[in-house]
Amino acid sequence: MKSLLIINAGSSSLKFAVFNLPLTQDAPSVYRGQIDGIGANTQFVAKDLDGKVLLETTIKSPDGASLEDQQQLALEKLLVWIEDQHIELAAVGHRVLHGGKKYSAPVVISPEVLAVLETFVPLGPLHQPHNLRPVYALAKKYPSLPQVACFDTAFHRTQPWQSEVYPIPRKFTEEGVIRYGFHGSSYDYISRQLESVLGKQIGNGGVVIAHMGNGASMAALREKKCVATSMGFTAAEGLMMGTRTGNIDPGVLLYLMDKHGYTAEDLTRFIYKESGLLGVSGISQDMRTLEASDKPEAREALELFCYRAARQIGSLMVATAGLDALVFTGGIGENSQFVRNRVCELMAWAGVKLDPELNKIRGKALCIQAADSKVAVAVIPTNEEWMIAHHTTTLLGLN
Ligand code: ADP
Repeated sequence: MKSLLIINAGSSSLKFAVFNLPLTQDAPSVYRGQIDGIGANTQFVAKDLDGKVLLETTIKSPDGASLEDQQQLALEKLLVWIEDQHIELAAVGHRVLHGGKKYSAPVVISPEVLAVLETFVPLGPLHQPHNLRPVYALAKKYPSLPQVACFDTAFHRTQPWQSEVYPIPRKFTEEGVIRYGFHGSSYDYISRQLESVLGKQIGNGGVVIAHMGNGASMAALREKKCVATSMGFTAAEGLMMGTRTGNIDPGVLLYLMDKHGYTAEDLTRFIYKESGLLGVSGISQDMRTLEASDKPEAREALELFCYRAARQIGSLMVATAGLDALVFTGGIGENSQFVRNRVCELMAWAGVKLDPELNKIRGKALCIQAADSKVAVAVIPTNEEWMIAHHTTTLLGLN
């Protein structure tokens, strides 16, 4: 039997999933796992279909190995494990951060495509080089194995220019400083579930999807196409997140530079790692920990998270010209009764009303609005790996 390997490679982690061919609708991955802590204490965990741990081991790097060498070693360990399972790979699908303005759909990777993807490194220096590294390694080891890139940005290329352009001097816009948006594979997947969960008419109407995990964003859809999204040039804009600020006055950053001598590195840490739920609560970035805490700082972090989410929905409702449905997904969106309830309370002015019983759902697709709600509300679990597997099989004609 032939299989697909799906890779989501970051700087310090590599997540993977293996799907068997032919790939059916919503087929589960037969194996999945991750390699975490690359560059420090590298841990490799692989699980089977039922979530049973098949392997849990530490990967030891030679002393003085560079981060790049350690990433390479992690991938090699994964490939050896795959061979040990007698998995015959037909293709590999990669999650790639940036497709720039050029790619509005997944693409089969060739040396020419790879050269274009390299030119997007300045747009996503924290992710793009790490996303591409396994592509090179696989091409070297298995030159005839087809590889496909699925971009976080691609889904948002249907945005009208007003959603995409910043009010900055034109030369920077032309250089590519625009609002790309991210979490595209998740929105792509959810957009394909809208009709079956919400019905044809509402599914094609004005829909705001809230993808809330450690990273969080929203997308506004009409006719299942993106018309606006909360993330912009980078994945720092928009919603308050686990450790990221989301929208912030750039004047705050100037103040930190002036008053506290913050360097670019300090600001990067402030924006991406020290803020959000973690920064406000001073306790944790994890929603479950905060929900379980009775500390006032935890309550404040939760309230701010929900308030800013509702403010963002209000803004996206301009782009959709009215709201027919609100969809929750991602670890928080799929599981947190509290967040869904509070966000919907804050949207009551727009006719959003939840059914408290239905809102108890976790991790399953369901409409959860009250009978007298003017807006449909749904939980739809996302499946980014399956989406990448689907594009990989379709582009390569493997099914
Ligand atoms: P990532 O963006 O890393 O893929 P996930 O989509 O897995 O993140 O979401 C992680 C977030 O989901 C964490 O904040 C976690 O606390 C939250 N979460 C997971 N399960 C629950 C739950 N039962 N209740 C509330 N929050 C949850």
